[in-house]
Amino acid sequence: MNEELRILSEVQKLDTKILENERKRAQAPVRIEAMEKELAEIRDKVAREKEVIEELEKERKRKEKELEAEKEKIKKSESKLHEVKTNKEYQASLKEIDAARAANDKTEEEIILLMERSEELKKDYEKASALLAKRDKESGAELKAVEQEMRSVDDVISQLKKEKAELMAHVAAKHQSRYQMLLDRRGGVAVVNVKNGVCLGCFMNIPPQLFIEAMKNHQFVACPSCNRLFYYVENEQE
Ligand SMILES: [Zn+2]
Repeated sequence: MNEELRILSEVQKLDTKILENERKRAQAPVRIEAMEKELAEIRDKVAREKEVIEELEKERKRKEKELEAEKEKIKKSESKLHEVKTNKEYQASLKEIDAARAANDKTEEEIILLMERSEELKKDYEKASALLAKRDKESGAELKAVEQEMRSVDDVISQLKKEKAELMAHVAAKHQSRYQMLLDRRGGVAVVNVKNGVCLGCFMNIPPQLFIEAMKNHQFVACPSCNRLFYYVENEQE
């Protein structure tokens, strides 16, 4: 048994865990971003609805004022009716008053419609506002949880790296750099098992003589296809 090879196989286990934790760590900003995006969308919706409600209210007030003025005019016209001299003039004035009343009826209907739309939107607005307040509060707690998780993952990673450094202290520098280079170039997998003559790193068949050599774990044997180092384990648990 080559001791350095055995140690490197242990280091590989640590590196596999480090990689897993680093992937987990990288998820945190993605989760935070998604949360912030969701909140921003609700906030936008609330702001837009508020704007529309305000516009509807403004429009309603404008129409109410207009209606009041028109009603005032009709009153004046009605009070002047007795001053009219001819029947023709009288008929014309009546016609004008009728037309003004019809226009006012229309304006009143429009005011009611505006009120209805505004009421409906207000319900939506209140719902969205409540949701915003709720999600705002929740996301504060979620953010804290994600940050807490991030910190504990960081702790795990630094602990694993410490263990790795301790093990590596027993490995010659040239083997260390060979291992590290393989790790970087082969997706975080430098030491692999070999089973039934197949490299479990690249799943290529290796020559039978090489397989026999690799099974002994007496020396560094590399896969001819992917260059990963073999560390033979008969019954791999993990
Ligand atoms: Zn291979």
